[in-house]
Amino acid sequence: MRLSKLLIPTLKEDPADAEVISHKLMVRAGMIRKLTAGIYSYLPLGYRSLRKVEQIVREEMDAAGAQEVFLPVVQPSELWKESGRWDIYGKELLRFKDRHDRECCLGPTHEEVITDLVRREVRSYRDLPLNLYQIQTKFRDEIRPRFGLMRGREFIMKDAYSFDASEEGAEQSYIQMRDAYEKIFRRCGLEFRAVEADSGPIGGSFSHEFMVLADTGEDVVVSCDSCDYAANLEKAEIRNEPVSFPALSGTPEKVNTPGVKTIEDVAKFLNLSPLSIIKTLILRTEKGPIVVLLRGDHELNEVKVKNFLNIADIEMADPTLIAKVTGGPLGFSGPIGLQDVPVLADHAILTIQSAVVGANEADTHLINVDPRNHFLVDNFGDFRAAAEGDLCPRCSGKLRFNKGIEVGHIFKLGVKYSKAMNASFLDPEGKETFMIMGCYGIGVSRVLAAAIEQNHDDDGIIFPPPLAPFTVIITPVGAKSDAINDTAQKVYDELWNAGIDALWDDRDERPGVKFKDADLLGIPFRVTIGQKALAQGNVELRDRKTKENRLVKPNEIVSAIRTKIDCWSAGL
Ligand code: ATP
Ligand code: MG
Repeated sequence: MRLSKLLIPTLKEDPADAEVISHKLMVRAGMIRKLTAGIYSYLPLGYRSLRKVEQIVREEMDAAGAQEVFLPVVQPSELWKESGRWDIYGKELLRFKDRHDRECCLGPTHEEVITDLVRREVRSYRDLPLNLYQIQTKFRDEIRPRFGLMRGREFIMKDAYSFDASEEGAEQSYIQMRDAYEKIFRRCGLEFRAVEADSGPIGGSFSHEFMVLADTGEDVVVSCDSCDYAANLEKAEIRNEPVSFPALSGTPEKVNTPGVKTIEDVAKFLNLSPLSIIKTLILRTEKGPIVVLLRGDHELNEVKVKNFLNIADIEMADPTLIAKVTGGPLGFSGPIGLQDVPVLADHAILTIQSAVVGANEADTHLINVDPRNHFLVDNFGDFRAAAEGDLCPRCSGKLRFNKGIEVGHIFKLGVKYSKAMNASFLDPEGKETFMIMGCYGIGVSRVLAAAIEQNHDDDGIIFPPPLAPFTVIITPVGAKSDAINDTAQKVYDELWNAGIDALWDDRDERPGVKFKDADLLGIPFRVTIGQKALAQGNVELRDRKTKENRLVKPNEIVSAIRTKIDCWSAGL
């Protein structure tokens, strides 16, 4: 394709609203344009790259035995009412009415639609397992759309859904998808980690997020510095080292702490470290109030508490509930003397020999408190968020934190949707049984942005070859001549005949302008055709990533580029 004919409106300046590099570069390289908040048009270059991601996803999904379908974007509310999500899915679900006043929504995900399809068409265990996927536009009315394609309101997702007749089958389907995802992200040239994520009441290792490591990521990847344990922050477990010291002598004593409410203030006021203070959190849940005790320097992990108690909602109690539970005001809660309320305590409070706690009385704390003797705990457990430097739950290593971009998520759903929507089949004994489901998403458009976050320099994008809009850019430079033009045409034809997509920069621009644009667009390989080298029978092959320049005979370009791509695939 000739560059002069393509719509590639490059820009010199970063767009004012762009915060992250992928957003800046995709706009500057003329790949995308914003229509309105979180909604983008893909221009020819952007769409070519997007289709390359799609194709990799498609090939690996097909190879894993999944079948491609294409489901509607507009979904009737009835299905969402059946699954129970119409009322609980928040404002991200864009709801509207059609001309007959029927409630509809734009699909943010397709569990309901696919379950409805499969329950109608699949009746017998003989039709299972089944894995159906699609690559399609999703709409989520995100509260803060930002970072270009990274968090759009309208975005392209690959979503797959598996239906199995048995638990073992469902686990097999899960593992197949996990393997396929590893292949997909490796083929895209991404540096990623598959991390354990919370799988809610199902438990076990049945939810993984695929995280691209990048400083601009919105997620935290917790990983061990010596083994391959990796999890997201919600899920990350912690190993607690038991500590032993003699029991504390004496009893708790009251100290006056006027207006001193936060852990920080208490520590400062009593000239102590937060490590010797116990934080007493009073929480409201759908099963009534609970109390959670943490060491002062630690933070609550709500998900761990929810899973432990099998509850759905947790929020901080208001002063009225605090007064009801503790008899005291906000900021002075403590575990001594609590009654009729379940008390959970994080293991780490046992590392405190002499603790400070709230006295459940205004302006008062208790010192000299022994966490092993002076109050009752119903359950000790891991209830806190992991922190950098914590011990790995699997080995003697330490946990470290990195930023990550979630590009994929796989999840065993179990019978959540099949039960709610009555998707059943007849087993070999003729018994009606619910299908066991899994769902598997990839943010196809986010993958593209993530690839740019990981691969760029001051001059622009450095596409991994499989995602580049074109693999090669042919750049004739200097005065026009038949020799240059003929060579360009020949190289161009040979590349396309060999299945390598090449862009021909046929513009009447100065070499500097052409080189700058080629770098900005991130085309992996540039073939420069100029008078001087050509007089010796050569053209120049430049590697965008290494910036290495090499003289090559025009008829050797195809094999030289093939070798380069092979080296790239082999990680060389
Ligand atoms: P996030 O936590 O980033 O909001 P999610 O957990 O809501 O993601 P899923 O429902 O698991 O996402 O969707 C599957 C995949 O779709 C995600 O792994 C992500 O790559 C992509 N995705 C989700 N929301 C967006 C968005 N607003 N813009 C672009 N891609 C998205
Ligand atoms: Mg999410």
